[in-house]
Amino acid sequence: MSDHAASARRRQLIELARSTRGFMPDNEGEALLDAAARAGRAFPRPLLVEIGAWCGKSTIYLGCAAEETGGVLFSVDHHRGSEENQVGWEHHDPDLVDPTDGRIDTLPHWRRSVATAGLEACVVGVVGDSPTVAARWRTPLAFCFIDGGHGEEPAWADYRGWAPLVAEGGWLAIHDVFEDPAEGGRPPYDLWRHALASGQFVEDGREGSLRILRKVATTPP
Ligand code: SAH
Ligand code: MG
Repeated sequence: MSDHAASARRRQLIELARSTRGFMPDNEGEALLDAAARAGRAFPRPLLVEIGAWCGKSTIYLGCAAEETGGVLFSVDHHRGSEENQVGWEHHDPDLVDPTDGRIDTLPHWRRSVATAGLEACVVGVVGDSPTVAARWRTPLAFCFIDGGHGEEPAWADYRGWAPLVAEGGWLAIHDVFEDPAEGGRPPYDLWRHALASGQFVEDGREGSLRILRKVATTPP
């Protein structure tokens, strides 16, 4: 693909991501795409994972990075919504409820987003519980984006399950990191602090509430 065609394709996907429903500000989505594309270029046949896909907004940004770098994005979500998406909570959206059983089902919306974006060749949906998938995952990741359940227990389960799977020299991104408790819940911030304090990750960028970390290489070259 020519540079011109590649940048037109990127612009098309960014436009599409912006108009897709979800929880990712435009500037943070582009920062996510840039970081994932850097990670994709650093590894042969790069493997990207996102935890928390909802209707596919972040999936399109990350899928764009996978497409550009010849990689594959595995998008993990049970598509039943987090605690904060359930009836009566702040981020509930009644038209995402399946009328047959009254439960949230974002999978049809996610699927449509990926198809509309033309990303089905490089995005694979993994429908299920994130820690259950992580416990059985073996292939090291070039890039991992954590944006699943934001409560204490789900957030730490995602970190404990997925952070060890990031390849040495690979990237970990965490969403909804708020240094001021008045702006949002603590768990994503605590994960980020813990990752830095562990000495296993160093900061590699930030945009809004998005934090990018890079895993330190421990094996001598
Ligand atoms: N990244 C999305 C927003 C994700 S919202 C965007 O750009 O808009 C958080 C998502 O995490 C929800 O879709 C919810 O279903 C998912 N989730 C929460 N806990 C989960 C778990 N244990 N396993 C898999 N997915 C989970
Ligand atoms: Mg988020």
